[in-house]
Amino acid sequence: MGGSPGDLQQAYARRGICRASNSPSVFSRRRGAAVPVVSVKTGGCPEDCAYCPQSAHYETGVERQPLLSFNHVIKTAREARDHGVTRFCMGAAWRQVSDGPEFDAVLEMVRGVSALGLEVCCTLGMLNESQARRLAEAGLHAYNHNLDTSAEFYGQIITTRTYEDRLRTIEHVRKAGITVCCGGIIGMGESDKDRIGLLHQLSTLNPHPESVPINLLARVEGTPLGNAEPLDPFILVRTIATARILMPASRIRLSAGRRSLSREASALCFMAGANSIFVGEKLLTVPNPSRDEDDELLEDLDLRPLPHA
Ligand code: SF4
Repeated sequence: MGGSPGDLQQAYARRGICRASNSPSVFSRRRGAAVPVVSVKTGGCPEDCAYCPQSAHYETGVERQPLLSFNHVIKTAREARDHGVTRFCMGAAWRQVSDGPEFDAVLEMVRGVSALGLEVCCTLGMLNESQARRLAEAGLHAYNHNLDTSAEFYGQIITTRTYEDRLRTIEHVRKAGITVCCGGIIGMGESDKDRIGLLHQLSTLNPHPESVPINLLARVEGTPLGNAEPLDPFILVRTIATARILMPASRIRLSAGRRSLSREASALCFMAGANSIFVGEKLLTVPNPSRDEDDELLEDLDLRPLPHA
């Protein structure tokens, strides 16, 4: 123990500083993941989620669009794969999955995207056990179903389905052997206590969700939260850091709301432990940074896509 001041000066020679600044413990070669999310059926949702431009309860100018064709989805997925992504997420603005031709068409899409060698994720609303099983059989890798916020604050955001409904869908997904993508949204007027409540709920799911999207509210005109007070980005950073500590093996996904973040705030989110982003011009219907902006940011931070997102 104990070197002279001269020894310490040796340790901080220029080459050493250069190595330290490029070491994995700072930024270099850290692994991240980039996941595109495509809305395969848009708008007209009967739920009343106060943040959502796709809810039929609000006038937000989102154009309704019926289920996309198989060919359209496969073409989009192939382009995404050729751009280097390994996971592809499809969302439909449904309250719940209904058995019938539309669900059959989604199952076909899952098979088709999976055959391209991509991990497939879906978010389709509530599911029962047999629907979860059919999705698993079609090759679905992950199912997204967010808890949104704490159980206590939830009733101020959604009244058309319960927190328990959400937990039940997550249970069905888990039971079918599909990995769980489950997170929440901050900046909806919730308190610190609610953010802690959400993280507590997520981190007491057993096992932890493999993927935890942390969304910053994207304020959309026409929704009840269109004029919500902007959240201090440091709260987002803190929430991500806490999620990282609580769920060390989960992929923490920096999700909606990235457009309102500065490059510095986005970088802080990665330093705090986020290791994935959703990419594409739109995250379902909400604008997202462009592909070029994302490529530049990831390049600057020396983040590389993971072989499996
Ligand atoms: S978040 Fe999903 S369930 Fe809620 S209104 Fe939007 S599309 Fe419907």
